[in-house]
Amino acid sequence: MHADVHQVVIIGGGLVGASLAIALDRAGVGATLVETTPAGALPAVFDQRNLSFAEASVNALTALGVLQHLRIPAGAIRRIHASREGDFGRVLLDARDYGREAFGQVVVARDFGDALEARLSSTSRVRRLRPARFVGLGACTDGIREVRLAGEAGESTLRARLVVAADGTDSVVRAALGIAAEVHDYRQHLFVARVRAQRAPDGTAWERLRADGPTALLPRGDGAHGLVHGVAADDADAVARLDEAGFLARVQGALGWRAGRLLEAGPRSAYPLRRVVADRTIAQRAVLVGNAAQTIHPIGAQGFNLGLRDALTLAELLAEAEDPGSDAVLEAHAARRADDRERTLAFSDGLARLTSNDAPLLRPLRSLGLLALDRVPTLQALLAGGAMGYRGDVPALCRGVAA
Ligand SMILES: Cc1cc2nc3c(=O)[nH]c(=O)nc-3n(C[C@H](O)[C@H](O)[C@H](O)COP(=O)(O)OP(=O)(O)OC[C@H]3O[C@@H](n4cnc5c(N)ncnc54)[C@H](O)[C@@H]3O)c2cc1C
Repeated sequence: MHADVHQVVIIGGGLVGASLAIALDRAGVGATLVETTPAGALPAVFDQRNLSFAEASVNALTALGVLQHLRIPAGAIRRIHASREGDFGRVLLDARDYGREAFGQVVVARDFGDALEARLSSTSRVRRLRPARFVGLGACTDGIREVRLAGEAGESTLRARLVVAADGTDSVVRAALGIAAEVHDYRQHLFVARVRAQRAPDGTAWERLRADGPTALLPRGDGAHGLVHGVAADDADAVARLDEAGFLARVQGALGWRAGRLLEAGPRSAYPLRRVVADRTIAQRAVLVGNAAQTIHPIGAQGFNLGLRDALTLAELLAEAEDPGSDAVLEAHAARRADDRERTLAFSDGLARLTSNDAPLLRPLRSLGLLALDRVPTLQALLAGGAMGYRGDVPALCRGVAA
């Protein structure tokens, strides 16, 4: 083996890339983690968004020693209450009916970023390159791929057995590999803020579906609610300009009075919503994970949960592999991820369209409707299983099994 050849180079130290580096370290596999953000700062993606971690992700991130570093306790989602404006139906899912304490836990992305960083600092096999930006690929010969990076000292080239694209929705690695992606613009923006209400969170996630987007209150662990408010793209600028009182009035109108009067909203951030799905997830000596492989509508709270399962499956395969970038390993990864990927994409897209103006899909879904959903236990169980993160070939750490 050449001394200057890196076994695994991960491009992107966001939610999925950082989790993968930790999982690999735990499995005894060394990795080089490349991130544009310099040491001492967190990548911008670790912002105020509320992440709902499925039970499977909580199991895995606890086994990896990450969640123990959270400063704010996670907020448990014990019930999910979803209703749709104009329909009488509503869905009420209770985790106890599925023999669970909670469907998942709400964690603030910023806090999660700090926890990942704290855990990364105690790894022994992770090499960090930051600030360093992936700028392109070089030759791929003799089982080695060249990776071009731009850092403080200028451009350099790394030689790697395997390159992992964890560089997010607009993945430059994906483009350099010549992998196309299917893009759909939902014409919605999602506003996220921390909100205080008359009633403190009681473990219920309230979800209200309307034609111009979903609105939800998630139970955070710090006594506040995590607000998610979807608006039509054309209204996004006007909503961003609202003062606090105007914004709260708008949200109250969308959500109703389930948490009592909304009293206070922290700073808002907004995200335009796109679905970006790579045509394939592997190439010669390369694999796509997380948002680089698939970016989905956040309504089902599945994006990171799905990306984490990409990463954990890869770590499981690499723990056993002699050559981490061999065709056999990469094909096994694509095969093991296919079912979960397909079903989670369909689930999130279906939910997103249920809340949008997409007329052809809306009508049949509405007539099947939330009312029906509330009465069909198997459909509910499927939904709840998905919300908890058990789909397809589930990585061992997600099942709470020591890998
Ligand atoms: C409002 C909102 C709410 C969400 N809520 C949930 C939720 O409740 N549950 C859930 O599971 N998911 C949720 N998601 C989705 C979740 O945020 C994403 O799935 C997750 O961030 C994907 O992680 P990633 O590591 O693949 O990509 P990112 O987190 O985008 O990380 C990419 C990283 O790559 C780095 N990078 C980019 N280009 C380069 C380059 N050329 N060279 C080096 N580094 C580079 C970036 O700096 C960044 O650190 C939500 C998303 C939004 C927008």
